Amino acid sequence: MGTNDTWNDHGGYMGHARSRQPAAVRFVALCLLLSGTLTAGAQVAPEAEYHDAHFHLSNYIQEGTDIRDYLKIMGNRVGRSTLFGIPLQQTWSYENSGDFAPTYYLHTDAPLYYYSFTDAQIAMAFRSLQPEQQARLDPMITGFNPADMYGVDHIKRVLLTFPGVFSGIGEFSIHKEFVSSKVAGEVASLTDPALDRILAFAGEAGLVVLFHNDLDVPFAKAGAEPVYLRQMLELLRRHPGTKIIWAHVGLGRVVHPVQNQAAVGAAERSPSQMKIVEGILSDPSLAHVHFDISWDEVAKYIVASPQSLHNTANILNRYPDRILFGTDEVAPPGPEKYFGIYEKYQPLWNALTPDARHAVLKENYERLFDEARVKVRAWERANAKP
Ligand SMILES: [Zn+2]
Repeated sequence: MGTNDTWNDHGGYMGHARSRQPAAVRFVALCLLLSGTLTAGAQVAPEAEYHDAHFHLSNYIQEGTDIRDYLKIMGNRVGRSTLFGIPLQQTWSYENSGDFAPTYYLHTDAPLYYYSFTDAQIAMAFRSLQPEQQARLDPMITGFNPADMYGVDHIKRVLLTFPGVFSGIGEFSIHKEFVSSKVAGEVASLTDPALDRILAFAGEAGLVVLFHNDLDVPFAKAGAEPVYLRQMLELLRRHPGTKIIWAHVGLGRVVHPVQNQAAVGAAERSPSQMKIVEGILSDPSLAHVHFDISWDEVAKYIVASPQSLHNTANILNRYPDRILFGTDEVAPPGPEKYFGIYEKYQPLWNALTPDARHAVLKENYERLFDEARVKVRAWERANAKP
């Protein structure tokens, strides 16, 4: 925080009292400004390479990157970014792992629980920024339990407690390998009316929904219909007025588009994954559904072979306005790891038409989130308590 606070102070003071400073101070400030040190995070650079539709500022123990450090990482390369934590807190159970403090859900058998305070943390971090920095970020509400009929009331409460902040909900999960089974309380389900209440309200208030749901169970049988496909399609069709982004194209770490990395297995399920995605994109009753290609695991599948790259580029070029890029980075320590995923996708960027590339990297984000900002602000005004 320390150095960044100084930065902010300088920003204000330079703007108002510039003429009273000695020339040398002004010169140093100008150099810093030009080098990007002072301007980092101050405005949306027109030459930005992408907007990040999927970004976690904090991790499974609710710790993470200082928001000013994130703006510095974004620098001029990233225009805008979504902003959310992780709704689930990993319990440190002394009985389970003793003095070992787990920071990830695979580190322990202890349960995860919904940590609603994450939304207040995100809102307060956002509010600590200057307006031109805020303009680059789209905070999302995540700290609700989608298996609780009261979940939707948390979302409304957050909007009315922090008006002017949030543009969407998510990333939240229903079926997520290794995670869903660790969540304390009721098991989440795509058929739960609690989830319908949430998606219906998101449509009413104009909130963008970023939704993680594995299409299938881990280590599924080749050739079988993905276990959650039918329920997912029915759910999506019940909410045509809600803008939904299906995270990671429905894939997981072991919920593969292919049965295994070997070429023999690849032939079995890879086409069906593509077919499913294409089926959704070409179905008029699912025109409100988008996908993100975030997560380095997804990038690995896509750039794995010339064939997988070709198939993906083909779909993106034909349905460019339905797919968004995001990093799915969690609390990145610095730029190197953060930009790794974008760079891993370079072969895909090269394979897209200029229009498709622009849509996937920037335009779709702007369309969805600009619309959400207007609608959600209107809902907040209409429902504000006197
Ligand atoms: Zn994520």
